Amino acid sequence: MPKYIFVTGGVVSSVGKGITVASIGRLLKGYGVSVSVQKLDPYLNVDPGTMSPYQHGEVFVTKDGAETDLDLGHYERFIDLDLTRSSNVTAGDIYSSVIAKERRGDYLGRTIQTVPHVTNEIKSRMRQIADETGASVIVVEVGGTVGDIESLPFLEAIRQMRNEIGRDNVLNIHVTLLPYISATGELKTKPTQHSVKELRSIGLQPDVIVCRSDYPVTPEIKDKISLFCDVERHAVIAAPTVDTIYEVPLILHEQGLGQLIVSRLGLEASAEPDLDDWSAMVERIKVPKEPIPIAIVGKYVELPDAYCSVREALYHAGLDHGCDIEVSWVRSEDLENGGLDAYLRTVKGIVVPGGFGPRGIEGMIKTARYARENQVPYLGLCLGMQVMVIEFARHVMNSDEPNSTEFDLETGEPVIYLLPGQKDIENMGGSMRLGAYPCKAAPDTLAGRAYDDQVVYERHRHRYEFNNAYMKVLGDAGFTFSGMSPGGDLVEITELRGHPFMLGCQFHPEFKSRPYRPHPLFREFIGAAKKTLREGGQHPLPAMSVEEYKA
Ligand code: GLN
Repeated sequence: MPKYIFVTGGVVSSVGKGITVASIGRLLKGYGVSVSVQKLDPYLNVDPGTMSPYQHGEVFVTKDGAETDLDLGHYERFIDLDLTRSSNVTAGDIYSSVIAKERRGDYLGRTIQTVPHVTNEIKSRMRQIADETGASVIVVEVGGTVGDIESLPFLEAIRQMRNEIGRDNVLNIHVTLLPYISATGELKTKPTQHSVKELRSIGLQPDVIVCRSDYPVTPEIKDKISLFCDVERHAVIAAPTVDTIYEVPLILHEQGLGQLIVSRLGLEASAEPDLDDWSAMVERIKVPKEPIPIAIVGKYVELPDAYCSVREALYHAGLDHGCDIEVSWVRSEDLENGGLDAYLRTVKGIVVPGGFGPRGIEGMIKTARYARENQVPYLGLCLGMQVMVIEFARHVMNSDEPNSTEFDLETGEPVIYLLPGQKDIENMGGSMRLGAYPCKAAPDTLAGRAYDDQVVYERHRHRYEFNNAYMKVLGDAGFTFSGMSPGGDLVEITELRGHPFMLGCQFHPEFKSRPYRPHPLFREFIGAAKKTLREGGQHPLPAMSVEEYKA
C-alpha cells in the first residue's frame, strides 16, 4: 500500500514549498524509495494553460501533454522523473469532473456536496497517481497557504485520507516562514504558531515543520516552535535561504529529515541515502567559474519565473561547461525601435524563448537579425524558432511581408501558419500541439551532432507551424531543416549554415534538462557561446550575404 506525505504551506506563499517537496523527493530517491509527486492547486482554472504568465509563471508541459504548474518542473529536475497529467490537480479540474458526473446522472439523484463528493473526487486523484506510478510514497503538495478559502476541500480530503489509510501511513509536513524583524534582530515564530493553530482547527496536526528563513534558525527558536506547535524537536527543520536551490536536499538531509520520514513511515530504505553525485554537483555549482553573459529576450522578462525551465536549463548547460551563466533579461518591446547594441553588445549568446501574441514580436525579430548579422550564438525556443524563420524570410525576400498568421492574419507570406486542418478549431487549447512528439535530426548538422543522430522525443506547446511551402526558398538561401517529424511533414528544428550557432526548435527542450544531464541543444548552445570571441559588440567573423550562404 502506498504511503503519503502531505505538504502544506503557512504564513505566506512563494516561500519555496515546491523546492522543499522536490528536495524531499530527491532525498527519498537517495534512500532507494520509489516516489512520485502530485501538486494540488486550489484555483478554479482547469489548468494553468490559459493563465497569463504574469499570474502564474511558466506553464510546464509534461510528456503526455498536460499544461501544469511550474513546480512540476522542479520535481522532474530534482527527482529525475517524467511526470504525467496525474501529477497536477486543480480545483477547477475537480469541480468540472464532479459537475460532469452530476449531469450524467452518476450520483443517482443525490444532493451533491463539498463533503463527500468533492473530497471523494480529490481522494480518488490521490489514489489514481499511486495506482498509475506504483510508487511506494506519494508526496502531495497543496498549493497556496492554510487559511485560504479555496484550499479547504483539499485539506479536508487530506484529513480524511489520514483516517482511511491509517496514521502510520501518512506524514504531514508544514512549510512556514520565520520573518526577521531588523529593529530587534530576531526571527519571529508567532506567524508559524498561528498557522499551525489554523491547521489544527481543521483537524490536521503537523508531524514536521520546515522553517524557511533568510537568517540562521537558532536552537532556541527550534525549541520554541517545538513547544508551541507540539512537534518533536528533531522534526523542526530549518530551511535557510541558500545560493542554489540544488543545495536544499543536502540541508534537509543534514538535519535528519530523510531518516525521520523513513522511520516514521516504516519505509524499506538503505541505511544512508546515496547523495554522492548530488553533493558533487552542488560543490561544482558553488565554485566560482568563468562567467558567460547570455541574454533572454522575451515578453514576460519582468517575471523571470515565466521562464523558469529556460533559466535552469541554461545553468545546467553552464555547469557542464564549467562556466557560470549570467542571464540578462531583455524586454523585447524595448528593442522594437532599434538600439539593440546597447542591450546585446556584451552578451555571448541570445535566447528567444516561447510566447504567445503579438506584443514585442518585432523586437524579437530584430534580435534574430542582430544575432545573424553579428554571428552571436542564438537559440530559439518555439516562438524563438518562428521568429528566426520570419527574420530570415524577410532578409531573403528583402521585404517586411513574411510573418506568422498569429501576428498578421492577412500576411502575403505566411511562413508560419496554422495547418489547414487546425483552422476551424475554436476552443482555446483544442488546437495546440501538446506533449512529446518524435523528431529525427539530420546527420552533419548542429542538431544531428547534439542528438547523436537519434530520434528524440521533445515536448511541444504551440498552435502554429512552419509552412513547408517556404522550405525551398529558405533552404537555398542558407537554412537547414535539421530536425523533422519522422514522416517528414513537420519542421521541428531549423538552423542557419555559415553561422557559429543559430538554431531554432519548434519544441521546448528546456523541459527535459536535468542539473547533471543538460539538454543537448542547450549544451551545444553554451559550448558555442563559450567559444565566441565576441567582445564589445564586434565578432571577428563578418556577417555573410545571401549569395555567400548559397555558395
Ligand atoms: N505562439 C506560438 C504558437 O502558438 C509559439 C508558442 C510557444 O512559443 N510556446 O505557435
